[in-house]
Amino acid sequence: MLKQNIMRRFLYIAILLLLPLISFSKVHTEGFSESEIPDAVFHRMEGKSYPKGCPIKRSELRYLRLMYVDGHGKVKEGEMVCNKAIAKDVLEIFEELYKHRYPIERIQLIDDFDANDERAMRANNSSSFCYRVVKGSKKLSAHARGMAVDINTLYNPCVRRYRSGRVVVQPSNALKYTKRKASFPYKIEWGDLAWRLFTSHGFKWGGAWRSVKDYQHFEK
Ligand SMILES: [Zn+2]
Repeated sequence: MLKQNIMRRFLYIAILLLLPLISFSKVHTEGFSESEIPDAVFHRMEGKSYPKGCPIKRSELRYLRLMYVDGHGKVKEGEMVCNKAIAKDVLEIFEELYKHRYPIERIQLIDDFDANDERAMRANNSSSFCYRVVKGSKKLSAHARGMAVDINTLYNPCVRRYRSGRVVVQPSNALKYTKRKASFPYKIEWGDLAWRLFTSHGFKWGGAWRSVKDYQHFEK
């Protein structure tokens, strides 16, 4: 009997200690979820963002479903693959962007564009994982591990200025959006909501880099 009482008391204490952990675990808003990569999604990625021999483990990646509001105020549902290390950050950031009706034109897997970055950027797509090198170099990109997110890529191009004076803009149809003082939709700039959310979650903004200005890019 005494033993039973002690056990019961122990159980109560254990529950009391665990309660705060349960209530602090974040429950995401409906429309925002995270899972391992489902088979159907992985089949879409194979040979595209996840090429043959890709050294990144499938288990290192996460599949996110996100809600967002487009430039016409329409609510849409998007999907994104990123590294599991940033999945929670990305969900929290996109939940805030959604709550504030921050305009995002589209969030599709880059595989819908055959993992062709130029095509996806021309379509103003926002995405994360793609096993590829840095635009215009042989170095692996942070996207290769799913540790970077590109937002509204047409209006926030990647601008590379060479000493010779040559300027390369990606996507190539985004020349007019390299004038960052001009006002146009979907523009990311220092101090705006997207910038504040990503940087407060420990991401670095490509628009602050010196040699290359990658206005669409946030990486951790
Ligand atoms: Zn990027």
